[in-house]
Formats: sequence, C-alpha cells, structure tokens
Amino acid sequence: MDIKAVRDAFPILHQEVNGHPLVYLDSSATSQKPVQVIDKISEYYRGYNSNVHRGVHTLGTHATDEYEGAREKVRKFIHANSTQEVIFTRGTTTAINTVAVSYGRENVGEGDEIVITPMEHHSNIIPWQQLAKATGATLKYVPLQADGTILLDDVEKTVTENTKIVALAHVSNVLGTINPIKEVAAIAHKNGAVILVDGAQGAPHMNVDVQDLDCDFYAFSGHKMCGPTGIGVLYGKKSLLNEMEPVEFGGEMIDFVNLYDSTWKELPWKFEGGTPVIAGAIGLGAAIDFLTEVGLDQIVEHEHKLIEYARKQMEQVEGLTIYGPEKRAGLITFNLSDVHPHDLATVLDAEGIAVRAGHHCAQPLMKWLEVSATARASFYLYNTEEDIDRFVQGLQTTKEYFGDVF
Ligand code: PMP
Repeated sequence: MDIKAVRDAFPILHQEVNGHPLVYLDSSATSQKPVQVIDKISEYYRGYNSNVHRGVHTLGTHATDEYEGAREKVRKFIHANSTQEVIFTRGTTTAINTVAVSYGRENVGEGDEIVITPMEHHSNIIPWQQLAKATGATLKYVPLQADGTILLDDVEKTVTENTKIVALAHVSNVLGTINPIKEVAAIAHKNGAVILVDGAQGAPHMNVDVQDLDCDFYAFSGHKMCGPTGIGVLYGKKSLLNEMEPVEFGGEMIDFVNLYDSTWKELPWKFEGGTPVIAGAIGLGAAIDFLTEVGLDQIVEHEHKLIEYARKQMEQVEGLTIYGPEKRAGLITFNLSDVHPHDLATVLDAEGIAVRAGHHCAQPLMKWLEVSATARASFYLYNTEEDIDRFVQGLQTTKEYFGDVF
C-alpha cells in the first residue's frame, strides 16, 4: 500500500490543529473522506442533481443510474447474491431498527428469546430491548470471557429452540473483538433462529462475504468506511426480506395506491420510502471504489501492523490499562491510571491528536469493565507509525501534566 498516495487523498489530514499537525485516531467514530468521495458528491450536485426513479429526463436518468450503480458496488463489496438484498438506510442504527420492527414484530412473541452479547453498541441493544418489551420475549446475553471474547460453547448454551433472533457485532467498537460470525450463524440456524450482524466496525476493516458468513442480516454505515454520513446499508437474505413489511410508508416504495389500501414495490425499493439519500449513496459507491482500489487485504495488513506497533509502544507507558483481547481489529481502548479519559483526550487534543473518550455508546460494557469511561485510539488506512509515536508521546505528556495522580 502506498501510504503517501493514500494520505494525499485525504485533504483534511493535511492541517494543523492547535498548532500541531493533525493526528486523527478516531476513525471508529467516523472515518475521514478521500477527495474521490468529496468530488463525486460535488459532481452530483453540480452536474446532475435530480430525484431518482421518477422522471424520464436526462438528469433524473443519470442520477438513477448512479444511485443504482452504487447499490451494485455495495452488492459486490459484501458479496451479496442480488442487489435486491441491498437496502439503503440512514446507517447501521436504522438498519438494525428496521429488522427489529419489521422482522421482529412479525416473528417474535411471548416466550421467545432474543440473544445478544454485553459488548454490543447501544444501537444493537435498545432495538432488542424494545422488541422484547413489545412482544413479551426475553432478552438473553451470551457471557463475556475476561478478555472480552465470547465462547461458542456459551453461545450453544444461550441459544435455544425458543430463540428467534441472535444479534451481535462483527467487531466490537470498544474491545476490538472480532466475533466468530460464521460459527454463531450455524448455531442460530441449528435452533431455527435468524442472525443479524452489526457490521458497523466490520465492513470498513475487513473483507465481508455475507454468503460465506451465512448471516441473515448485515448492517453497516457509510461514514465509517470513507463514505458520507446519512447513508448505510441493510443486507438481508431475499427470502426473509420478501416476507417482511416495510416500516416507512410513502412515496417511492409503492406499486399502487388506492383510497383504502396500497401495494408495495418489489425489493429493495419497498424498504426505501421517500426520496432516498441520493448523494450519500453515490458517495458510498465512490468510497467502495476507493477502498477496493487500495485493496481491503492491504488495508487489513496495514491496520494489523499499526495495532502491533501501537500495542508495543503503549506497553512502555506506565499506568496504562488496555482492554480487550490479544487478537483485535484496528482500535485500542484504554485508561491511563486515574486520569479521566476526557482529561486525557483534552490534553491530546491540545497536541493535535484526536481520540475518543467516553462510554462509546456501550454503557453495559463499561459496567462490565467496571469503569465509567475509557479512551480509544482507532486506526484506519491513512494512519502511520509516526501518528502512533505522536500519540504515545502525548500519553507521556498527559502523565507529566497530571503527575500528582501517579
Ligand atoms: N454499532 C457499532 C459497533 C458502532 O460502532 C456504531 C457507531 N459507533 C453503530 C453501531 C451505530 O452506527 P451509526 O451511528 O452510524 O448508525
């Protein structure tokens, strides 16, 4: 991977923040956008801004071709069988809620079980809590091991023939844990349940093959994978999506509307009520082109090297606690002695270094870790060992600053 060429593609990285060159270590919250994506969105608004699937005029046809072309790029990127299985949503959150409401209300009832894990993002907890409350189902958790992983034995014990839905993250946004999706899917299916994968931290960082994983639903967000905000994807197996009711009703998603009844368009459009996020989808298509051109395998390898390097350097810092397993995706969550993560992030920010601090939308996991908050450094294809050196230096500065707590 030509790191210089990659970095050159991201205009935002070439600036000073608080008098220092920016070190951006918050890509798990949202990634930066390459010029290819920014330009593609700008081209749409400048050159062919128009609604899709409606007019016969030239701009409308152009916009529709680009919008549907982006869907095909997504299909290929996640190795789905058909573009009918690729639904554009506002993001991971909307995708998960769509399944919880549409599939959940139809297929889950009293006495049934929904199985998740304590490492989930709030977006993959609350929709299931709400579904359990609405239907009388029980929400069950696969326990975590001390290192923040799950055991397949525990999945076997937790998932029963009363389980209707298993939902878990591909990659934890706090621990970096990579969950064994294929194996969990097999256990879910053996018990007659479906599996939803929260791929918000998976799709940006690894080759995702939804057919190989045999997951029923896979949700992810464009903004974490070099695309714009406001666009995400719900992948679902066609056989399931066909049976599901839309959750939003209105323009774009209908076939015929009568005074008292209506029928829906076929997949995927029946789930895309209203004017879609056209520029967002087209931008996501450009992001996929960009990531594919760099090469997902190269990105994975690059992140792996960064993680190894970061871990080694961070281990030199006295008083540092790193959370999560040895084998992890491209992020490191930690605490530095008794320094509050917000204080730590503030000192780092003064040095031009952006990290995340807080509960990371994972309060149950914070409780499990027995902390109120943590700091997190997350890496992506544009980060370098120099970024990590600056970051570790920033940790040392923080220690000096808060010297009395050590
Ligand atoms: N799940 C995980 C694991 C995440 O990291 C995030 C974003 N932090 C989400 C879900 C929610 O994504 P979005 O806010 O884009 O809907």
